[in-house]
Amino acid sequence: MNEKAFIDELSRRFPNEPEYIQAVEEVVNSIGDVYDKYPAFQRVNLLERLCVPDRIVSFRVSWVDDKGNVRNNMGYRVQHNNAIGPYKGGIRFHSSVNLSILKFLAFEQTFKNSLTTLAMGGAKGGSDFSPRGKSDMEVMRFCQAFITELYRNLGPDTDVPAGDIGVGAREVGFMFGWYKKMTREFTGTFTGKGLDFGGSLIRPEATGYGNVYFLLNMLATRGIDIKGKAVAISGSGNVALYTAEKLLQLGAKVISFSDSDGAIVVPEGITQEQFQEIFDLKTLYRGRIKEFADNHPDICTYYPHERPWKHVRADIAMPSATQNEVDGDDARALLANGCIAVSEGANMPSTPDAIREFQAARILYAPGKAANAGGVSVSGLEMAQNSQKLNWSSEEVDARLKDIMANIHAQCEKYGKEEGSDYIDYVRGANTAGFLKVARAMMAQGVY
Ligand code: NDP
Repeated sequence: MNEKAFIDELSRRFPNEPEYIQAVEEVVNSIGDVYDKYPAFQRVNLLERLCVPDRIVSFRVSWVDDKGNVRNNMGYRVQHNNAIGPYKGGIRFHSSVNLSILKFLAFEQTFKNSLTTLAMGGAKGGSDFSPRGKSDMEVMRFCQAFITELYRNLGPDTDVPAGDIGVGAREVGFMFGWYKKMTREFTGTFTGKGLDFGGSLIRPEATGYGNVYFLLNMLATRGIDIKGKAVAISGSGNVALYTAEKLLQLGAKVISFSDSDGAIVVPEGITQEQFQEIFDLKTLYRGRIKEFADNHPDICTYYPHERPWKHVRADIAMPSATQNEVDGDDARALLANGCIAVSEGANMPSTPDAIREFQAARILYAPGKAANAGGVSVSGLEMAQNSQKLNWSSEEVDARLKDIMANIHAQCEKYGKEEGSDYIDYVRGANTAGFLKVARAMMAQGVY
């Protein structure tokens, strides 16, 4: 395969989609060897069919705000690939959302879902609507207008959305309610639902907990104990908070959080009580992370408009906010300050330059598509419970989550271990394992 020619041609056809091209380039560069091993792939132009989404739905969403003004946003659903199961992937509501970002997320989701070993294809959707500063009623009216356009493309065996940035239990509840109203059916078409109407225990925790379980598997390959390690986290949303919760349970020190206004750093690590304060601030009051710094000036420094990476002495970094939030300079600063592992909670948080730095330093580095697959895995378990009309206990779901993360780690090790050394290239491992399953399914199903 001529990787460069392929990427050049894709960039020519989709010139204004840098995040999408970035995600495809990373995968294409790491599966070249295995792709070339099977000439049949090339004969059916499998790569291009795997990289270009099956379908994109885009639409205008008009809704009325509390003052009676009519507001317009864009809505999208990218149905990337359903070779191994129904389309599955979150919905993002954030002012930065555009087609390039959703195409990269849907592409990544396809490989991630393949790694989970559950029957789920890849998709992603969203809108440039930002729930921040909106009332509950405004968010509800927006969600209803969004689903009025999208519902025809969804279904329990067709496409099953979930949450992502800006979409939590509240938004999923509103979308599910309106979907049910439009279709007159109660089906498990959304995951991340409330526990009273089909949600799974451990789903809110799953991405953060899963990332920590993946990290434990990585650390075990080098005989490193998590206890007492200083961990820098970015973000302070769903993924960041549950990552911190699990780390504190295991005796690690959590030394940072952030949001889109800035970062806080607590060099000695937060206590359990301080974690609860941050958790309540973010989940009950939808507050800003700066408020914690204002309340604790003695232990905490606030860095407005910055990310934590250059200000922490961290053994481990777990970026859990958004894409491209760790650049080459951040990576060099983390390494200079003794970072030995990076496990990504967010999707594609490290730039290609940062990944090169981590890999050149041969630290433990896990890409989001492997490390943050716990969320969609428990979404898959939610789908299974919904179709059986059963609820599993939290112990059962948590045990399955641990198994799935261990299995994803094993697949990364199988396909990513460098010959003649103990080093595991988790990027190559995850991409190759994820690719092979989808590729085999596409080969078996013919060209369409
Ligand atoms: P939330 O909306 O709950 O939290 C997102 C956090 O990141 C907030 O603190 C937010 O700050 C911050 N953030 C968002 N955008 C930016 C930005 N452009 N610059 C700086 N900070 C930003 O989302 P999640 O925790 O669910 O998602 C976080 C990441 O994890 C995303 O990359 C998502 O795709 C990924 N992920 C999520 C999964 C899930 O199950 N939820 C599953 C797998 C991956 P602010 O409040 O100021 O916007």
